[in-house]
This record gives sequence, structure tokens and C-alpha cells, in this order.
Amino acid sequence: MSDQPHLTLNDDREMPQLGFGTWQVEEEDAAGVVKTALDVGYRLVDTAAIYENERGVGKGLEGREDIWLTTKIWNDDQGYAEAKTAFGHSLNRLGREDVDLLLIHWSCPQKDRFVDTWKAMIELREEGRAKSIGVSNFRREDLARIIEETGFAPAVNQIELHPSFQQRELRALHDELGIRTQSWSPLGQGKGMDADVVGRIAEETGQSPAAVIIRWHLQSGLLVIPKASSRAHMADNLSALDFTLSDAQMAAIDGLDRADGRIGPDPADYC
Ligand code: NDP
Repeated sequence: MSDQPHLTLNDDREMPQLGFGTWQVEEEDAAGVVKTALDVGYRLVDTAAIYENERGVGKGLEGREDIWLTTKIWNDDQGYAEAKTAFGHSLNRLGREDVDLLLIHWSCPQKDRFVDTWKAMIELREEGRAKSIGVSNFRREDLARIIEETGFAPAVNQIELHPSFQQRELRALHDELGIRTQSWSPLGQGKGMDADVVGRIAEETGQSPAAVIIRWHLQSGLLVIPKASSRAHMADNLSALDFTLSDAQMAAIDGLDRADGRIGPDPADYC
């Protein structure tokens, strides 16, 4: 495996570009799954309070302060005091003094508490308990509000992004604002590999369809966190570090974008 790429965040920290997602990994399996992922070569693990696996993830990471750890504040815990309390519980479950990245999981516009949550997170960063802070599933208007009201831009916005739903407008805004884009459900929850274009490029390159898609994310300058259950899938996804797609192959995957390609909830009304 080649040296792993990192992207520099707007707080000058270097974040591994390719990481391992743990949504739907059960608490009792999480330690083993995370240990396998580290053994295969992953250097970043993404969890969240709502995944209910932070204890297992923390066990899997014991003694590995070198691994980038991301967790998230859940919707019910939004608010200045609530977010601080919830993050303390996350740290206890994870068995750590700090995390590398703390995200607001969803903006929940109806609740309208994300600005207060963000203010709490700015303080958590100053205290060093969250080394970097960011958001997830934030829309243009949500980003505008936190930046206007606090003067502090998130380092990352983690959003649904895969070949069928490429979020070009939001990515362009992130580029303007100096925010890194991280792709969640990068494989379209396992369905992205069915596209004919992806199959053809897999044949051309001698790689798996999943590796082709992960490679597309990497070459597009995105942070990416595929989830996999088996060691074979984990290794397959990491092999995206070891080959290159041609401009024509990149353009062919760019062409798969669809206006109706969203598979997860719409951040405008999810909370
Ligand atoms: P992914 O797009 O990563 O797809 C995961 C699916 O693809 C699983 O069914 C997996 O199967 C399959 N798969 C993985 N690798 C391969 C492979 N090499 N060959 C064939 N099939 C493969 O979906 P997720 O929704 O899990 O997204 C990834 C991560 O993003 C999550 O784990 C979580 O950390 C984050 N996320 C964040 C959200 C947010 O709101 N911020 C929302 C959703 C996800 P198998 O398990 O059998 O290997």
C-alpha cells in the first residue's frame, strides 16, 4: 500500500483522506471490526453517538492515539449546554480525553439550535477536547448562519456524496469557504457498484467496482469513509490508494450524477 494521502484543514491539521465508517456496526462487534480495519491499514475511524457503538470503537482504538477519530453530536443533544454534556458522555464511552474531529450530525433547521451547539463546539476546540470541529449535512444557509454568527467556519462538512449524487453546488461553496467535503455513503450504501460505467472501468483497470468508486472520491479531492464488514471488503476499498483513473474514466463517473440521486434523508426536514 502506498503512503496514505492527507488533506490539510482550515485549522492547519492534516486529516487522512480515506477512513473507515462504522454506521450499523453493532456495539459488541465494533472493537473487533475496528481492530481489523487498523490491521488492514485504515488510519481514520468515523463513529457517532447515535451509532451506539462508541464503547466498542473506543476499545478497538485502545493505545492508538495515532488514529484519527471522528464522532458526532446527535440531534437530541443540540444546544449549548446539552452539546457539552453529550460530548462528555461520548468521551467517556470512547475512553478518551479528546477526539480529532467533532461534528454536528444534522443541522435540524426546525429546532434552530445549531448555532448554540456550534458555540459550544468552538469552546471545546479551544479546550483541546475536540482538536478540530465541523458539521455534517449542513446546507448552504446553515453554513452561512454559523459563520455569520460566530465568525468561525467548520473544518469539514460531511455530506451524502456518491456517483449518483455528487453535490456539485455545495462542494463549490465549500471550496470558496475553505471547508473540506467528506463523502458519507460513498458507495451509495453498496448500490453504486451496479452502474454499467463503473463495471466497465473496473474491467479496464482490473480493480473492483468499489475500489473504482473510492478512487473517484480520492481523485475528486474528497475525504471519504466507506464502511465494510469483511476484511476482504476493507482491503478492497483501501486498494483505491494504489491505482489511478484516467481523465476520461473520471469524466465518465462524473457523468453519473443525478438530481434525484439522494438515498438518505433530506437535511431540510430531517431531525
Ligand atoms: P457505504 O456507501 O460505505 O456502503 C456500505 C455498503 O457497501 C455495505 O453494504 C458494504 O457491505 C458494501 N461494501 C463495502 N465495501 C464493499 C466492497 N469492496 N465490495 C462490495 N461491497 C462493499 O455506506 P454507509 O452508509 O455505511 O456510509 C459509510 C459511512 O459514512 C458510515 O459507516 C458512517 O460512518 C458515515 N455516514 C454518515 C452519515 C451522516 O449523516 N453523517 C450518514 C450515513 C453514513 P459489507 O458491510 O457487507 O462489507
